[in-house]
Amino acid sequence: MKSKYFPPAPDAPPAPPSPPMSPIRISQGHLNLLETCFRKYQYLYLDQLGSPIEPEQQENLAWGTQFHLLMQQRELGLPVEVLLQENAELDRSVSSLVQAAPHITNPEACTLREAEHSRTLTWENYLLSVIYDLLIVTDDRAQIFDWKTYRQPKTRDRLSRNWQTRLYPFVLAETSDFVPEQISLTYWFVGSRPDSLKFSYNTVQHEQTRHDLTHLLTQLEAARIQLDRDRIPFPQVSQSKGFCTHCEFAARCQRIPEDEENIKTANLLVSLDSIEEIQL
Ligand code: SF4
Repeated sequence: MKSKYFPPAPDAPPAPPSPPMSPIRISQGHLNLLETCFRKYQYLYLDQLGSPIEPEQQENLAWGTQFHLLMQQRELGLPVEVLLQENAELDRSVSSLVQAAPHITNPEACTLREAEHSRTLTWENYLLSVIYDLLIVTDDRAQIFDWKTYRQPKTRDRLSRNWQTRLYPFVLAETSDFVPEQISLTYWFVGSRPDSLKFSYNTVQHEQTRHDLTHLLTQLEAARIQLDRDRIPFPQVSQSKGFCTHCEFAARCQRIPEDEENIKTANLLVSLDSIEEIQL
């Protein structure tokens, strides 16, 4: 029986379809964050609720930016002496890296060699974006290099699970003629005693990454639709995982009493895992 109070309007046009959601750029930092907590991703990137980062971390980021800039200038054959004269630590770090990895820092015959090489892979409603600090391509292999300017290298196991280690070769394999087995990613931890960790890549890893990306981005799409259509916020991570204890949004999420908020907000806002690639 039709409702007495809300009769359908016979000539009412059908409801217009929701406008398509605009594509979202997804970096390795976003993927790491999504894997930790969808709600935190919403707060930081959709609601823009980030607060200023700590002065010490600001300093580290500035140093990292300078190092990347210098390495890029060096790649382009531009003079770097002035920059080095002004910063003794930077000078030491670059010299140490050149000494430790002469085959990387001094050009050899190759097809392509480019600093700050960026690539984007369109994945349905998402743009998977990567920036390689240095890409060296020869006929039969493609080597990605990444300068890590933070002091404490992560363990190999932890780095292998990081989305940077997974996304960087994945995007290259999907956007080039190279098969996974021809691709590698090497991290160089710069400083007075530079050290490196090299990750080879293969088809099994590639397909696993495709599977995991599909899963994560399908979840993200569903969460975006629910937020957009029904105003349902992104899901929170289970408290038992332990991430909330050090999260700056713990009070907002009612995961700690309000009066502890100040303690939590004193924690670093941006963990090293969620730092975006340095844009030069
Ligand atoms: S407090 Fe917990 S649930 Fe809330 S954003 Fe942080 S990690 Fe996610």
